[in-house]
Amino acid sequence: MPTDSFNREIDYLRISLIDNCNLRCVYCMPLEGLQFLPKPELLTPEEIERVVCIAVGVGFRKFRLTGGEPTLRADLIEIVERLSALPGVGDLALTTNALILDRLARPLKVAGLKRINVHLDSLNPATVERQMRWGNLARIWEGIMAAEAAGLTPIKLNAVVAAGYNENEVVDLARLTLERDWHVRFIELMPLGGGECATISIKRYVSNIETRRRIESELGPLQEIEAVSAADEARNFKLAGARGVVGFISPVSEPYCGTCNRMRLTADGKFHLCLLNDDELDVRNALRSGVRDGGAQEVAAILLRAVLNKPTGHHLLEGRSTRDRSMYQIGG
Ligand code: SAM
Repeated sequence: MPTDSFNREIDYLRISLIDNCNLRCVYCMPLEGLQFLPKPELLTPEEIERVVCIAVGVGFRKFRLTGGEPTLRADLIEIVERLSALPGVGDLALTTNALILDRLARPLKVAGLKRINVHLDSLNPATVERQMRWGNLARIWEGIMAAEAAGLTPIKLNAVVAAGYNENEVVDLARLTLERDWHVRFIELMPLGGGECATISIKRYVSNIETRRRIESELGPLQEIEAVSAADEARNFKLAGARGVVGFISPVSEPYCGTCNRMRLTADGKFHLCLLNDDELDVRNALRSGVRDGGAQEVAAILLRAVLNKPTGHHLLEGRSTRDRSMYQIGG
């Protein structure tokens, strides 16, 4: 397994398939002034397959497809088929807003996808429309139901908590775990990319200490449960008698850099070394260089260099963040 200069084992690659999205969440994408990558700049299914094959060769085992919104890629099923067929791909998951998952869940399962994470900030239709702009709770819910019926489990819901939007609705989300064996995870806002969404992310930040307090004051104490993997970014808890899990992902108030096992690949073919830093290494040129082995040796060398140079820590509490890419351009 590749190890970075802080002795962390890096075996998890998150692959962004596209930077476009069918939502405009207030803290993620502005309504105007966006420019998306033209199709020729996106890695093709065959190129993504080659990177994953090489990543497996150097010891990566876990893979997640994300975006933008990955279900907007017309070739998503082909990508899943290609990756799931590769020996050594231990885990293949997808992060989605589920808006069009109702018709895709079954084909994704058949193609070899193991499980999904769904982004849903509220169970109130009006809040979904206001916070996730262009969101539609009924459609997202149908998508989640379709995923569950297709066996894309365990279902994990990710809710980003934003002051003045959904901070009072976290209790309803947590309550879902009483009856369902789902994971409901609350994510702290991170200011990425420097634009208006970064400003909103600072202004609307709610600490998970606060979110936990809100949940416990209505639903009773949360009992911490043992982490399945040390690299799990969430700290996980259960409400008394609950079937599911309440998780807190707290990059700001409780950074987990020490156990990070993640590398990211952007839709335009850069290894992005850390969500909260701007450092990147291009891999697309190597993939498109036309050499006989498809650039395999060079790609492997770039990936290992990316692992070795992976930074640790962030400067959010000193008011410094990233400049170059927003979350929708990295993949979360
Ligand atoms: N479209 C998919 C989705 O909605 O999950 C995948 C991409 S989206 C960028 C991945 C995750 O990043 C979502 O859960 C989203 O809420 C989260 N996210 C976006 N901007 C964020 C921010 N500023 N701070 C924390 N999480 C953020």
